Amino acid sequence: MKGVVFLGERKLELREFPDPVPGPGEVVIEIKASGMCGSDLKFYRAGKGGGAASLGLGGGGPVIAGHEPCGVVVAIGPGIGEREARIGQRVMQHHYRGCGVCKHCSTGWMQLCVEGVKEVYGVTGHGAHARYLKCPARTLVPLPDELSFTTGAAISCGTGTAWGALQRLGLRGDHTIAIFGQGPVGLSATQLAAAMGARVIALDTGTERLARAKEFGADLAIDPGSAGDVVAAIRAATHGEGAHLALDASSSPQARAEAVRCVRTWGKVCFVGEGGEVTLDVSNDLLRRQVTLIGSWTFSTVGQAECARFIADRGIEVDRLFTHRWRLEEAEEAYRLFDTQTTGKGVFVM
Ligand SMILES: [Zn+2]
Ligand SMILES: [Zn+2]
Repeated sequence: MKGVVFLGERKLELREFPDPVPGPGEVVIEIKASGMCGSDLKFYRAGKGGGAASLGLGGGGPVIAGHEPCGVVVAIGPGIGEREARIGQRVMQHHYRGCGVCKHCSTGWMQLCVEGVKEVYGVTGHGAHARYLKCPARTLVPLPDELSFTTGAAISCGTGTAWGALQRLGLRGDHTIAIFGQGPVGLSATQLAAAMGARVIALDTGTERLARAKEFGADLAIDPGSAGDVVAAIRAATHGEGAHLALDASSSPQARAEAVRCVRTWGKVCFVGEGGEVTLDVSNDLLRRQVTLIGSWTFSTVGQAECARFIADRGIEVDRLFTHRWRLEEAEEAYRLFDTQTTGKGVFVM
């Protein structure tokens, strides 16, 4: 089979790999949809071999990219029961492998494995930009019948990450939340938060992305490039108090600081954008206002399933996130366009 490999410095190639064969406890998924996640750009843009390491995920040799897998189980290795996986089962995949038995793995948080995450599929282990993906059966998350494979792909990282962050923040319908960055994760957060009944203030420097945020339920759209004082604009929109909650999905140091400063006293802030830094005035920005600052890294297998159930039950149109559908053979063009960060989300369909 052919798989997409990032070579670094915005180069990639379609490389030939042997079709995977499942070992004990493993399955093979035939990939039907493989999403493009914002963090893929970090790997795509990195210097030779530097992408995974730059996000604290270790190194390793060239692997097949893609960490939003969704498809159908087509092969099952020895030792797997009927309830764990079935041939033909529609599945998403929780894209991390851990030891499988520690307190984090056994509660569905394989990325937090006490032995260190052993593989991040599409980053340090072979991912989903290919026809097949081999993985432990315990990393499978059933895809509800109502959901398309492309929706399942989005939930497998970008949309699931937005869900995880909103859960960590304890978002309620009477909250106003400011969401910095309206890329795939930020826009998903806008869509989910609006569906939960919250009032959303969406921020992005791209006019196209802001227009989409409004279509996805944002009450107010702010362009930090033209708004001047972003914190003042958010205060003005919240009776001078500030937002209850803020989420940074942009990774911008300035946006992160503004996310902290735009919440009201007792407010909560969550960072999900990967990489980079932030500078805060600890006493004035945090302590004096009783602000809670949360870091959130994706979601558990249980959270992924709950996110999918919510989306199915509420009829949320996650597929509208995708502005581009590609064949694997078009990967170069797909990433060249995604790299501009002006479009919606892309997905490979097989
Ligand atoms: Zn573990
Ligand atoms: Zn991702």
